[in-house]
Amino acid sequence: MSDCCSAPGLLPFECALENMLSQITPVTETLTLPIAKALNYVLAQDIASPLNVPNHDNSAMDGYAFALESLTQSNTLSLVGRSMAGAPYEGECKRGECIRIMTGAKMPSDCDSVEMQENVQAQENHITFLTEKQLGSHVRKTGEDIQRGQQVLTQGHQLSAIDIGILASLGVSNVQVYRKLTVALIATGDELKLPGQTLKSGDIYESNSFVLRAMLEKLHINVVDFGVIEDDFESIKAAFIRADSQADAVISSGGVSVGDADYTKTVLDDLGEIGFWKIAMKPGKPFAFGKLPNSVFFGLPGNPVSALVTFHQLAIVALTKMQNAQELKRTNLQVKCVSDLKKSPGRMDFQRGVLTVNEQGESVVSSTGSQGSGILSSLARANCFIVLPAEQDKVNAGEIVSVQLFDQFIS
Ligand code: AMP
Ligand code: MG
Repeated sequence: MSDCCSAPGLLPFECALENMLSQITPVTETLTLPIAKALNYVLAQDIASPLNVPNHDNSAMDGYAFALESLTQSNTLSLVGRSMAGAPYEGECKRGECIRIMTGAKMPSDCDSVEMQENVQAQENHITFLTEKQLGSHVRKTGEDIQRGQQVLTQGHQLSAIDIGILASLGVSNVQVYRKLTVALIATGDELKLPGQTLKSGDIYESNSFVLRAMLEKLHINVVDFGVIEDDFESIKAAFIRADSQADAVISSGGVSVGDADYTKTVLDDLGEIGFWKIAMKPGKPFAFGKLPNSVFFGLPGNPVSALVTFHQLAIVALTKMQNAQELKRTNLQVKCVSDLKKSPGRMDFQRGVLTVNEQGESVVSSTGSQGSGILSSLARANCFIVLPAEQDKVNAGEIVSVQLFDQFIS
């Protein structure tokens, strides 16, 4: 832990992140999967190409293959054979001769160039070349895309659809990947009802577990949903014990403050080593992190925006480390802010912004308006966070601010 992390009061955001990551152990179990089943898994091996791509010189056009030297005497060559994709011409092609060739077909060994069929006149077996050619025209050279032995994918890479295609094109049929993580979700609160149920006076619909499940699925993580647990010591304890026995990580929302119905802390003091942090970030001040007997624990605040922002900024970073995935690279830009922003020094703000390009072609960011931590629609309208450092005061329209573009997990 660095020095800043031992300071009293609110824990700086960077310290919370660093402290949390230092306690995360990546999974080690791997499995071997056929590539057709490997989408979104994290590679547990480097992949070097077993072959050249393309694996042989081949034609980029439908036309005629020849040796450029042949055209020095006459621009009419005799047609002596055909090379098709999958049925190469293996005979000789002497000076003054040419071969009919199709796109992707292997170049005959005596030929070095291809002319497209639109640029020749064919009369029976006499092919007249109408334009001047360059050596190697329309030939795709062996290994010009990928060379044998070249590293194409690295351990820690999460396999995309394109990667699966690349693996197939290299003839790789199976890959070694890390096993998927399982995360247990728990929503706490007597007021929470599921969509479809009837609300009593004072009730609200539970939304956090739905947002979190969707984001976890985008992270390629299995979810076990424990639903809504009432604000009661024994019920919460029983749910946490069951969740801990089934998952790599347990994520709860709600009940992490110091209200009369906030039992998360007392339960966890009983079960594991949990730190309750007041992080110098907004939204999201109360946040719990620590270890249960078998899993790690993230206690998110109940407010929907706070839950989502702490999950996105803190928990996802820890979960990707646990998955063995390469470090997330989020895109940060410095742009002009066209709204006045309220802020007082003390906490790092993740305000919701809309990044657009104005009529002058300049990227500008505006606020989504009200930044209340219960207003989920402020996030739905946004496409970026306006990240304001802790010491920053209010922002006047026209000032330059730092924005973090929404990544694939949040958008
Ligand atoms: P808490 O952290 O439990 O004090 O909750 C803070 C606020 O977030 C309260 O207004 C709760 O009703 C609300 N809240 C807590 N959990 C959820 C949830 N799962 N979905 C939607 N709102 C919630
Ligand atoms: Mg609550």
